[in-house]
Amino acid sequence: MSGQGRVLVAGAGIAGLATAIALRDAGFDVTVFERAADPLGAAGSALGLHPAAVLALRSLGVDGPVVEGGAEVDRWELQDWGGRRIGGWPQTKVSEAFGAPSITVPRALLHQALHAAFPEGQLRRGTTVAGYRETGDGVELLLADGTRQSGHLLIGADGLRSAVRRQMHGDTPLRPAGFTAWRAVGDKVVGSDPVPTARQVLGAGATFGSWPLPGGRTYWVATLADEEQEAAGLTRPPDSPHTPEEHARLADAFRTAPSPAAGLIEATTPDRVVRTPILDRPPQAGWSTARTLLVGDAAHPMVPTTGQGGGQALLDSVAVGNVLRGADLRDHHGLAVRLHQFEEQRFPVTAKVAQAAWHQGRIHHERDPEQVALRDRRLHATTEAEWLSRLGLGPASTAARSA
Ligand SMILES: Cc1cc2nc3c(=O)[nH]c(=O)nc-3n(C[C@H](O)[C@H](O)[C@H](O)COP(=O)(O)OP(=O)(O)OC[C@H]3O[C@@H](n4cnc5c(N)ncnc54)[C@H](O)[C@@H]3O)c2cc1C
Repeated sequence: MSGQGRVLVAGAGIAGLATAIALRDAGFDVTVFERAADPLGAAGSALGLHPAAVLALRSLGVDGPVVEGGAEVDRWELQDWGGRRIGGWPQTKVSEAFGAPSITVPRALLHQALHAAFPEGQLRRGTTVAGYRETGDGVELLLADGTRQSGHLLIGADGLRSAVRRQMHGDTPLRPAGFTAWRAVGDKVVGSDPVPTARQVLGAGATFGSWPLPGGRTYWVATLADEEQEAAGLTRPPDSPHTPEEHARLADAFRTAPSPAAGLIEATTPDRVVRTPILDRPPQAGWSTARTLLVGDAAHPMVPTTGQGGGQALLDSVAVGNVLRGADLRDHHGLAVRLHQFEEQRFPVTAKVAQAAWHQGRIHHERDPEQVALRDRRLHATTEAEWLSRLGLGPASTAARSA
């Protein structure tokens, strides 16, 4: 049965567009309001998608161009700062078990695929959401230009600094993770791995990751703990551009890391680099009120150490589509029940993923030399079976999947 009612979506990022597609497919009349005039322009760099996220894209019908334009990751390798191997696993085993690949994809390509699957006429670009007002039988979206839009359900998909969340929960501060990330797609190939390999190097208060992309390009992410950032002369006000001088300092900070970290940075032009001080919020329940629901980073921001935020946003969209399928959004009580069902399904999962990412972010940015040595020894002692179990391929999870 086709859903009935009008849905207003704040934000056309991964969460907003994917949720809009899922709800449009479920029969609702959906309009998306996006602050940026050109949301693709801000997309920048790349991101990794786990097999579960690719399955979510498949269920939205947009996996084809994303998988085609991305690069499969077949292996993961971890190194210490001296270049010694301290861990790794065949990612293909994870992909085979899920029935979908693990991929790295340019962000712009993912956004383009999502945009292409949603009618352009239903997307209002350059439109900032200022707030909302719930009435008994509907919700009014208040736009910054002073106009209003009426609907039956508002989806708050407006990201880490969500205006919808702020109105729902108050203006609570974000939690700094204690490190900053610089990321870019560079025109250089890393090494000559026989299979496409994701590599991560862990140091003292510094990490460097690299992922192959099609066309001889490499996606890289360099991170520095606050103290290392300051020591490298890289502290600067937010939103100021990444200058050539800062770029040279960044390369210098990774000069002692195993090759090709500094070389990859140097081979990338500074204008391609996106700098992001990392922030999240501790998991907080209460994602909905009578006619408003938070999804994606607006609901569950997480540090990017495990590369899951975008994938979890995609999984949200599929879950929203499922719980609202066949609903009449004018039915006040029925809507509230379904919004709670969504949170019951998604809160425990995303809280676990976010807590694991926070914990891993701390461990990866450990600065004390003894703790760093201990961490590296522990990683080195981790067997391939343990790595795979952490990725959901343990005996228990295998049994659960085949049940
Ligand atoms: C360094 C780094 C690396 C990452 N790597 C990965 C990775 O490898 N894999 C992965 O899955 N995730 C990764 N992530 C996380 C991922 O980027 C986010 O989880 C994801 O982008 C969240 O999508 P979203 O749509 O919820 O929010 P956003 O992407 O922030 O989108 C929100 C949208 O809402 C718009 N908006 C904001 N305010 C308003 C307003 N008031 N009115 C109208 N529109 C508004 C914005 O312009 C934007 O288009 C990474 C994050 C970082 C910082």
